[in-house]
Amino acid sequence: MGYILNEEQMELVNLAKKFAEQEVKPIAAECDREGKLPMEAYRKGVEIGFNALEIPEEYGGAGADYYTIAAVMEEFAKVDAGFATGIGASSLALKPVLIAGTPEQKKYFADFITGDKGNGFAAFGLTEPDAGSDAAAGKTIAVKDGDEWVINGRKCFITNAGLASIFVIFAITDKTRGTRGISAFIVERDRPGLSIGKEEDKMGIRLSNTADVILEDVRVPEDHLLGELGKGFVYAMQTLDLARPTVASMAVGVAQRALEEATAYAKQRVTFGKPIINHQAIMFKLADMDMKTEVARSAIKNFYDIYYSGRKNFSREAAIAKCFAGDISVEVALDAIQILGGYGYSREYPVEKLLRDAKIMQIYEGTNEVQRMVIGGALMR
Ligand SMILES: Cc1cc2nc3c(=O)[nH]c(=O)nc-3n(C[C@H](O)[C@H](O)[C@H](O)COP(=O)(O)OP(=O)(O)OC[C@H]3O[C@@H](n4cnc5c(N)ncnc54)[C@H](O)[C@@H]3O)c2cc1C
Repeated sequence: MGYILNEEQMELVNLAKKFAEQEVKPIAAECDREGKLPMEAYRKGVEIGFNALEIPEEYGGAGADYYTIAAVMEEFAKVDAGFATGIGASSLALKPVLIAGTPEQKKYFADFITGDKGNGFAAFGLTEPDAGSDAAAGKTIAVKDGDEWVINGRKCFITNAGLASIFVIFAITDKTRGTRGISAFIVERDRPGLSIGKEEDKMGIRLSNTADVILEDVRVPEDHLLGELGKGFVYAMQTLDLARPTVASMAVGVAQRALEEATAYAKQRVTFGKPIINHQAIMFKLADMDMKTEVARSAIKNFYDIYYSGRKNFSREAAIAKCFAGDISVEVALDAIQILGGYGYSREYPVEKLLRDAKIMQIYEGTNEVQRMVIGGALMR
C-alpha cells in the first residue's frame, strides 16, 4: 500500500512483517502492561539487522533505501510502536555520523550497531531537562584538555539510553557563539563518568527504553568530535529532517492498525439488526480513517521523492509528513476506540493502547507545534 516496491524491497518488508508478528505480537500486551523491554526480540532483530537498515554496505550494513525502511517501520509500528521506536533509534543516532563523520568514524560507529564492537544499540543525545523544543538552550559543555574533550552535563528522554553501547552527544564548545558554539561527539557507553539516570515510566511505547544520560568529566579523544567544531547544531537539525519521516512511518503504522482493528470489529458487531459498518455514520468514519492514513503515507513518499531528487532543503516536507502523520495517528486511534464502543475503552482490546502509542508521535523528534513553526517559517520566507 502506498509505496511501489519491487520484489527485493518487498522481501525485506515481508521479513519484517513476519518477524514482528512472530516475535513481538505475542508478547506486546504483556510488555506494555508491565513496562518490560522485549529483549529477546530486540536481540533477534539486531541479529537480522533491523536496527539500522540504512547502514551503507561499505560499513557492513544492508544499505536499504528509505521507501523500504518506511514500509518496514510501518510494519513494526503496526504490531508495536514501542518496539519500532527502540529498534529504530540506533538509526537516529547513526544519522549525524553519516552526515558529518569521517569514513573512519562511520565505520567505527556502524560497528557498534552491526554488533561487531557493541550490542547493536546506539542513542541520540540532544534533549536536556531545560532544552527540548528549544534545543539550543542546552547546558552540556565540552572543554578541550590537551588532545581530549571533557564533557559534563545531563541529557534526558533519550531513547535506548539504558541499552546503548554508543552515543552521539551534543555539547557546547563555545558559549559565546549560540547555535554555532554547539558540537557533536561520539561517546562510548563504557567511558568513565558516563552513567544512566532515571528511566521514564511512559504512557505508551512502553516496549522502548527512555532514560537520562549523565556525563561527569567524560573524556573522549579529539577524533571523537563529529565533523567541524561548532557545526553540531546544524548536524542535529539535518538529522531531524531525515528522521522525522521515520516517525511519520511509525505513526502511519499505528493508524493503519487502528483502521484494521476498527474495520474488522465493525464488520462483526451487530446493532439494530445489521453490522455497524452498514450504519453510514460508522462507514464514513472508517472511510475518513482510511483517507487520512493513506494521505499521511503519501506525505512520507513525497518527502523521499524530494530527498532522492537531490534537493538539499527538505525541512518543510519532513515537518509536513511528521506533523500530519502524528496528528492523524491520534485521530484515527481515537476513532477506533469510538467504533469499538465500550470495548474500545477496555484494556482487553488493543485500541486503547494504540491511542497511548499514537500520542508520542505528536511529541518526540520535535513536537507538532515545532513542526508547524518549521512549516510556518518556510511560508514566511
Ligand atoms: C518517549 C520519548 C523519547 C524521546 N527520545 C529522544 C531521543 O532519543 N533523543 C533526544 O534527544 N530527545 C528525545 N526525546 C525528547 C523529545 O524530542 C522532547 O521531549 C520534545 O522535543 C519536546 O521537548 P520538551 O519535552 O522539553 O517540551 P518543551 O520544549 O518544554 O515544550 C512544552 C510544550 O510547549 C510547546 N512549545 C515550546 N516552544 C514553543 C513555541 N515556540 N511555540 C509554540 N509551542 C511551543 C511544545 O510544543 C510543547 O507542547 C524523547 C521524548 C520522549 C517523550
